[in-house]
Amino acid sequence: MNYPKAQIPTQQILNNKNIQVFDSKFKYPSVLDIKYARFVTSGRAAITLAMEMFNTGPDNEVLAPAYHCNAMIEPIIHLGAKPVFYKINKNTSVDLGDIQTKITQNTRVLMITHYFGFHQNIQEIRTFCDEHNLFLLEDCAHAFLGKTGDYSIGYYGDAAIASAMKFFPVYDGGCLVSNNSNINSIKLNDANRTFQLKAAINCFEKAFEYGQLPFLRIFISIPLRIKDFLWQKYKEMSPKTTSNSLGPGASEGSYGLDPTWLHKRISKFSKYIIKNSNLKDIADKRRKNYQYIDDAIKDISGITPLFHQLPDDVVPYVYPAIVDNPERLFPALKMKGVPIIRFGEFLWEGVDNNTCPVSVELSRKVFQFPCHQSLTIKQLDWMLEQIKFEL
Ligand SMILES: *Cc1c(COP(=O)(O)O)cnc(C)c1O
Repeated sequence: MNYPKAQIPTQQILNNKNIQVFDSKFKYPSVLDIKYARFVTSGRAAITLAMEMFNTGPDNEVLAPAYHCNAMIEPIIHLGAKPVFYKINKNTSVDLGDIQTKITQNTRVLMITHYFGFHQNIQEIRTFCDEHNLFLLEDCAHAFLGKTGDYSIGYYGDAAIASAMKFFPVYDGGCLVSNNSNINSIKLNDANRTFQLKAAINCFEKAFEYGQLPFLRIFISIPLRIKDFLWQKYKEMSPKTTSNSLGPGASEGSYGLDPTWLHKRISKFSKYIIKNSNLKDIADKRRKNYQYIDDAIKDISGITPLFHQLPDDVVPYVYPAIVDNPERLFPALKMKGVPIIRFGEFLWEGVDNNTCPVSVELSRKVFQFPCHQSLTIKQLDWMLEQIKFEL
């Protein structure tokens, strides 16, 4: 069998002329700056398509981090390949020494994640992949925005994926980006009109759902009559369909990989929102909220920030913190209505202390608090109050 040659030699990266200058008011470096981009319905779908692009199949092994969510592993299984789990260090950086020992003749892809928006040492990883003839898949699900080195996030991978639902007020959306024009030959179909409408409506539904909570009032400013209009149209067109089969949904929970959605384009509504968002504003607000939480958390005992500083080029997905007593605190904060999540709460079957004790510990002890752009100081104060109270 022929082993893959990594497709972007380092030299070419350095000489690429397609780099934009980010000086316009609304711009901010993001995965959208990478030369070729395809928009699909979820990050999971994008991972699957990237693997397909690398010709990953039944004889192949894919190196995946032991600290992961199911959405990262399901695409590997779907293609019949084998996930091989590598170790993560305490600061969530990948353990290249461990990866080295896990490479076999069948290893085809190295998948890395920029956890919570904080970057891996991607240049070093790129070089490693070049040396070992591996395809590099950069999972930017937590890092839609940001810069690594001189380039926008997602630049160094043979492909990178991102999840729109985690950064924008949308119901569906994932991106596959690459410097390699191969991604343009991936065949995608438009989702049907019912889905198009559902994608638009669901955005509003989410708004109203959140509006009920004391905490998140995200999209409440969208006029009601637009919602009613869309809802009416939707009902006319889809008398029988149920909402569950209609869309991919975000994968923070336990959603599986639905093959129906793999080769579908993103809804037009979601694409519109992404393309017209003020990225600079999103980045500034998320960073500001992160700093605000950081300042307050430092004074509370029993909880420590996972990262000691927020680097300039990072736009955080959430605020990750290590707690001393997760088994008590997680349900307690949830009960209060604090929308916390634990990345990797459920690791893939077989991943345990033998695979990587650090990952097991991170999946238990690292809580993620929201630093979403739409949160107000009042809401952050409320959240911090709950944390203080429980600790
Ligand atoms: C959420 C997530 C994905 C999948 O993205 P979806 O858009 O929800 O399918 C992939 N990788 C990581 C690290 C994630 O957190």
